[in-house]
Amino acid sequence: MTDSISNLPFPSAPQAKQWIQDIAPYVPGKAKSDDGRALIKLSANENPLGTSAKARAAFAEAEQDLARYPDPGASGLREALAAKYGLDPARIIYGTGSDELLHMAASAFAGPGDEILFMQYGFAVYEIATRRVGATPIEVPAKDYATDVDGLLAAVTERTKVVYVANPNNPTGTLASRAEIARLHAGLRPDILFVLDQAYAEYLEPQEEDGGLALAENAANVLVTRTFSKIYGLAAERIGWGYASADIIAMLHRIRAPFNVTTCGQAAAVAALGDDDFVDASRAHNAEWLGFLAQEMEALGNQGVRVVPSACNFLLVLFEGNVSAESVYNGLMQRGYIVRWLPGQGLGQGLRITIGTEEETRGVAAAIRDLVTGG
Ligand SMILES: *Cc1c(COP(=O)(O)O)cnc(C)c1O
Repeated sequence: MTDSISNLPFPSAPQAKQWIQDIAPYVPGKAKSDDGRALIKLSANENPLGTSAKARAAFAEAEQDLARYPDPGASGLREALAAKYGLDPARIIYGTGSDELLHMAASAFAGPGDEILFMQYGFAVYEIATRRVGATPIEVPAKDYATDVDGLLAAVTERTKVVYVANPNNPTGTLASRAEIARLHAGLRPDILFVLDQAYAEYLEPQEEDGGLALAENAANVLVTRTFSKIYGLAAERIGWGYASADIIAMLHRIRAPFNVTTCGQAAAVAALGDDDFVDASRAHNAEWLGFLAQEMEALGNQGVRVVPSACNFLLVLFEGNVSAESVYNGLMQRGYIVRWLPGQGLGQGLRITIGTEEETRGVAAAIRDLVTGG
C-alpha cells in the first residue's frame, strides 16, 4: 500500500536547509556540575547583586495584567529609554533579549550569497545568526584577543552586508576606543550595516564610552544594541533594545514577533532604568572585584597565568603554563564553581570568569591559586 509513497524520489522526513544543518548548537553557561550538583554560577555574566528592588516591585505590580497581551509598541519602555539617553523614541526597537535584535539584523539585511563579518572570539550568536539566514560567516583574526579594525576593513568584499562588533567584547572583555569605532565606521561602505553590540556599555566609565549611540543617531547604517540582562539584572525577562535610522528600524519591525517583550518585563525594565543607585552600586561592585580578580590572577604570572584586560563584568584568564585551563575548569567544578571554558570558540586555553559577590570572587580566586600552584 505504501509502495507508491516510499518509491517517490523524496527523503523519508523533512530536511532542514543545509545552512541550518551547518549551525553548531549554542552551548549556554552551565548552572550545575556534570554530576548534577548546584554550583556557584560564574558562567553567564549575570549581576551578582541581583535585580533592583524597584524593578522587582514593578514586575510584581504588572502581574495584574497577565491575561492581556503586552503593549506591542513597548511605548513606556521606549519613552523611558529616549528620556534617559536623549534619543528619538520612534527609532528605538526592542527584542526578546538583544539576541533577537542581532538575529533580526541578519534576517533583514543578508541572505544566501552574502557575507557577514565578525571577529574571532566574537560573541557566539553572530555566527548562528549568519548561518540561520544562509549567509556566509567571515571570521576575522583577533589582534591579541581584541577587535582588529584594519583586519575587519580588509575582509570587506562586495558581498559584505553586515558587520557585527561587540564593544566591549564577550568573551574577551576587550574594548575598542571611540576613535577605533569611528575609524571602522568611516571605512565601511554606506550600504553595509554596522551592528555595534553594547551589551556591557553600562559598565564603562564615561571616558571609555565608544560613541555608538551618537553614530547611530547620525549615520544611516549603524544599529546599536543594548540589553537589560547584564547590569540591570533582568536576564530572566529577556529584554533588549536597539537604536538606528528610521529606515533600518522600519525593516526590523517587519520581522519582529508582534508581542516580543512581556508586560512584566517592560514594567520591570522601565523601573530598572529609573534606579540609578542600583546601577551605580553594580558598576562600583564590578570595578572593585574585577580589579581584585585581575590582580590575583596576575600574581600567578610565574605559573603561566595571564589576564586579558576587561571592561566587562567578567575576566578572561589564560592558562599558558603547566596547568591547563581544562584542568582548572574541572578542578573548580569539583570545588563548587562553574566558570566558562570555551574550546568550541577556539579558547581552549582560557576561562571566562564572571565577577560574583565578594565571597564568590575571593573564593574562586583562592581556588584557582590552589589549583595552579598545586596547593
Ligand atoms: C549577553 C550578551 C548579549 C545578549 O544578551 P540578551 O540577554 O539576549 O539581551 C548580547 N551580546 C553580548 C556580547 C552579550 O554578552
